[in-house]
Amino acid sequence: MKKKIILLGASGSIGTQTLDVIAHHPDLFELCAFSVGKRIEHVETILNQFEVHHVCVLNEKDKKHLEVKFPDVHFVSGDEGLLQLASLEEGNTLVNALVGSVGLKPTLCAIEHGKDIALANKETLVVGGKFVKEALKKYHVNLTPIDSEHSAIFQCLQGVRKEDVSKLIITASGGSFRDRSREELKGVSVKEALAHPNWNMGAKITIDSATLMNKGFEVIEAHYLFDMDYDDIDVLVHKESIIHSLIETKDTALLAQLGTADMRLPIQYALSVPKRFELVSGERCNLAKLKTLHFDEVDMVRFPLLKAAYECGKKEGNACAILNAANEVAVNAFLNEEIEFLDIEKLIFKALDEIEYIKDATLKDVFDTDCRTRQFVKELVKGGI
Ligand code: MG
Repeated sequence: MKKKIILLGASGSIGTQTLDVIAHHPDLFELCAFSVGKRIEHVETILNQFEVHHVCVLNEKDKKHLEVKFPDVHFVSGDEGLLQLASLEEGNTLVNALVGSVGLKPTLCAIEHGKDIALANKETLVVGGKFVKEALKKYHVNLTPIDSEHSAIFQCLQGVRKEDVSKLIITASGGSFRDRSREELKGVSVKEALAHPNWNMGAKITIDSATLMNKGFEVIEAHYLFDMDYDDIDVLVHKESIIHSLIETKDTALLAQLGTADMRLPIQYALSVPKRFELVSGERCNLAKLKTLHFDEVDMVRFPLLKAAYECGKKEGNACAILNAANEVAVNAFLNEEIEFLDIEKLIFKALDEIEYIKDATLKDVFDTDCRTRQFVKELVKGGI
């Protein structure tokens, strides 16, 4: 059956690469709806390339303007618009490439409407992992990961019994500041932080990579995706980003997935599994040319946010919602040059100390925590921390 795709976050890094994958396989994939946030100019480009009848934009003003220009297209807007797309009759698969916890509600909505999920929005699982898992079970829906590490693990797990897996090993490039001491992180610029050595990604995730918050989120994501205890999920520093992650089985075998850094592979595999299709213009990985790969232990003192992610993950309740919301606001403030790089973790730890922890958090508690934490951190930023 053809995958009829609803793509949320079409103008971002994952979104544009998803469009590339769809365009290369028109016999297998069809774009039936998409959303765009601030980069509104992408709407016209996408509508010129694909025949789509449903589009969500961020604000009402853009919607009105586009309605005049494209009278055959049905436009919706805002958070409500995202839910309308997620529940769209025509679509059978949601590709969630939104950034931030704003992605959680559309994921849950699509699951409730029986749509399969290809997930790039890791905050969906970080903030609402427990609720997403319950919904997947209830509505018999599949969720496949797009994050490269989780795709690698997912690929390694094909044909392996769950009970035979002893460890998941998530590789980490170490981000833009992997060779700097904490002392050398003082006063680093936004531009320096945005220069990731291996991957070309969106701004938020590149900063998250530099703090290793991204790796922490990936640990939490892996816990929910693969049902593994936090103590059985390791992070391994591997600066070349050739091994995208590994699993270890009971008999001590290590299975890994390797390849060049091209996000189109995990995107395509999330949509094609269990089949594999040609990756058009994909670059092959030449190991003989590479000669050496490097590995190292991760330093939790150097990267306290990774440690915090393990702790919040184990605490469950609303702890990860606090961690994520504080991070979103802090990273945004850093990108706007309102705070220093090291203030990101300072703000997060303040939020974890101050915002009330609720052990048996309901979904509503999680959303309330998200709002409260954002407000709290915004005020700290405004008040000069
Ligand atoms: Mg990743």
